[in-house]
Amino acid sequence: MYELKVVTHMAAAHQLRGYEGKCENLHGHNWKIEVHVTGKNLGPNGLLIDFKKIKEATAKLLADLDHTFLNDLKQFSIVNPSSENIARYIYDSLSRDLNDETVKVSKVTAWESETACATYLEA
Ligand SMILES: [Zn+2]
Repeated sequence: MYELKVVTHMAAAHQLRGYEGKCENLHGHNWKIEVHVTGKNLGPNGLLIDFKKIKEATAKLLADLDHTFLNDLKQFSIVNPSSENIARYIYDSLSRDLNDETVKVSKVTAWESETACATYLEA
């Protein structure tokens, strides 16, 4: 099995609904987003998937989230824009975009600080 990882960043504000504590207040993070893809078979060029393809799909998706107030976006109007849900949203969206017979998005991690992150993956 091969695993590729692309790391990117986004800055955004959020406010956690129903959370008792400081995170209920409006604040922002510089999220570090890690996208992992896996697959067993390489193409004839020796690549699982071109890194560029993962980077472009991720950049396109994050462009809609970067420098926004996440709570205002329709994808987070009901579910809280927690790091957990951000990771899941990116996982689901990129899976639709990138998955094929040979490659699968395997997990997405959203780091909200240097010491705290949430990962979404399907068991
Ligand atoms: Zn926060």
